[in-house]
Amino acid sequence: MPPVSLHDELAAELAERDAHGLRRSRRLLETPQRARVTVDGRDYTAFCSNDYLGLAADPRLSAAAIEGIARYGVGGGASHLILGHGTAHHELEEALAGFVRQPRALLFSTGYMANLGVVSALVGRGDAIFADRLNHASLNDAALVSRAAFKRYAHNDFDALERLIAATPARRRLLVTDAVFSMDGDIAPVATLLDLCERYDAYLFIDDAHGFGVLGESGRGTLAHFNVASDRIIYMATLGKAAGVAGAFVAGSNALIETLIQNARTYIYTTATPPMLAHTLLTSLHIIAQEDWRRERLRTLIAQLRAGLAASRWQLIPSETPIQPLLVGGNDDALALSAQLAEAGLLVPAIRPPTVPQGTARLRVSLSADHQPEDVARLIAALVHPA
Ligand code: PMP
Repeated sequence: MPPVSLHDELAAELAERDAHGLRRSRRLLETPQRARVTVDGRDYTAFCSNDYLGLAADPRLSAAAIEGIARYGVGGGASHLILGHGTAHHELEEALAGFVRQPRALLFSTGYMANLGVVSALVGRGDAIFADRLNHASLNDAALVSRAAFKRYAHNDFDALERLIAATPARRRLLVTDAVFSMDGDIAPVATLLDLCERYDAYLFIDDAHGFGVLGESGRGTLAHFNVASDRIIYMATLGKAAGVAGAFVAGSNALIETLIQNARTYIYTTATPPMLAHTLLTSLHIIAQEDWRRERLRTLIAQLRAGLAASRWQLIPSETPIQPLLVGGNDDALALSAQLAEAGLLVPAIRPPTVPQGTARLRVSLSADHQPEDVARLIAALVHPA
């Protein structure tokens, strides 16, 4: 028999995905990222982005980007440790550290890279990582890359977590968690996790991708939301969601940041973020801090959606954040509901395994300060009285 070609094998695997309703595909967005978009030639109201504050297409950020280009050009040109670390990165790091009330901050090109770099710089063979099963994929990948023992516990099962931590022989223990779970929208009880860390001499890595800019006083994030601070916490947040641009940062002690500069491979072995983006993010940070009305708008829209869907056939998972998932169950049912809403001009993504556990396919409604109450009213009407 002739050997099967790689391409034939891949085609067979794709067909298998199709058969299970698991083929992922991309739509073509023809407008900036906003509540009202044109996609594949048709106008929609979209509930798909992580642009929670509605900043991704804000003209003030565009103006700042243009100013950044005029000042610094476009490309980073070199890695940070060679000659890619510039004034704009430096100013942004200082501003971010001040904003989240930490001594220092370090900028990464993406959140995925921050998680990989930080976790593997801090723990390795002989150490242990404890992780909620619903954590973001980048945290799981980070744990695998680090080669530390990787212990996962069922979502919010703190008894199971305590048993795991109590049983570990590892000297260095890192508990890693999403602050706001990206597919469920619930907020991790940071004080409970911190208490466990204190009792078992562990450290807490918080990924605040979905809380930064949204939660807490002036949008300072999940730690401000709970009013917790501890030198056991290593804080990370992304800048491509509420901040409307791209990138991520880690904040903590001087020793932590210096260690990352020495050891975080995704910081060292990559080209510096374009300085124009760092410059743009300074404006973004200013808007996040100043414009409370954006967070108030979100709160109003969240309340409107939850009240409007209270009696619907599908239930919203409990969540007080702009991530409002509607539990559907089956993959095909979730896809069908998403397609039905699209017919009505409403885009809501269906999220299926392996991104979420089997049998919990859902529509992930995400709200933005760019939405109007009429947008949410249309979504409610389409779900309560489907065509
Ligand atoms: N952490 C969480 C919780 C996320 O949801 C995401 C993005 N979906 C990331 C990290 C990765 O961030 P980035 O998109 O900047 O790579």
